[in-house]
Amino acid sequence: MRKNSLPALLSTTLFLCLLLISGCSAPEPSPLLSVHMIDVAQGDSQLIITPQQSVILIDAGDSLQGDRIAAYLTRHDINQIDHFILTHPHGDHIGGVHTILEQFHVSKVYLPPVVHISQLYEKTLDYLSTHKIPTTIVRDASSILKEDHLEVNILSSGQDFQRHLNNWSLVTHVSYGSQGFLFMGDAEIEAEEALMSSFHSTQLKASVLKAGHHGSSTSTSEPFLDVVMPDIVLISCGEDNPYFHPHPELIKRLENRQVWIYRTDLQGSIVLHSDGSRVFSHQPPVNQ
Ligand SMILES: [Zn+2]
Repeated sequence: MRKNSLPALLSTTLFLCLLLISGCSAPEPSPLLSVHMIDVAQGDSQLIITPQQSVILIDAGDSLQGDRIAAYLTRHDINQIDHFILTHPHGDHIGGVHTILEQFHVSKVYLPPVVHISQLYEKTLDYLSTHKIPTTIVRDASSILKEDHLEVNILSSGQDFQRHLNNWSLVTHVSYGSQGFLFMGDAEIEAEEALMSSFHSTQLKASVLKAGHHGSSTSTSEPFLDVVMPDIVLISCGEDNPYFHPHPELIKRLENRQVWIYRTDLQGSIVLHSDGSRVFSHQPPVNQ
């Protein structure tokens, strides 16, 4: 979705809403995929609801955000999470996991293949094991869900990033019809390079990119943008955060490409929808 097409898309969306409200005989709309970037301040949490109502949660913010995410899910009538992807063991991604596991039925959890010693991570692993929650350590690229015209893959390059936990982030690609969505966790440039050498560009291409590492300048490189070619970039970061995320360099990179930017620090939670042929939102991007 490029800048000049947004007014047309918004008016089409509004028109569709009006048709649905008035109940007149409109063509059957395609089922919608919803992608939510939940506002968890300086952290990450994305919720994906597929057209067949499968629920995928990626990360759960820091330890102060568990209740907020739980309330968000409850507001959206969710009581079961089919796939819970924990990108990597940093506290701003797994701090709220305990709360989610306690309050929701979680069918399956995915973890990156990295060993990490911290009280928080060990507590998380203990909980998963004690409660016998099916857990997969993703070592290779894995398809975790297939529905009509939709597929969800966790991409793993298999590269050893040693102590650089951010780069171990599980990366999730959702394709629905002609539209792609790529969720990067905190992956930085080294991980982007590994992905580009391990996967064909068609497996990385996405209309919507959740930028790696909260919009830092060490992620979302020019070569990676050349491959992914996003129309929309989502940035999850806290208002006035001490890391100065997102970095002005990244914003400039995106502005130069006329990419729409959505930011939780300025806009709160963001919701996008797709019918498989386009992506739309009732919220305008920050750089409209
Ligand atoms: Zn992070």
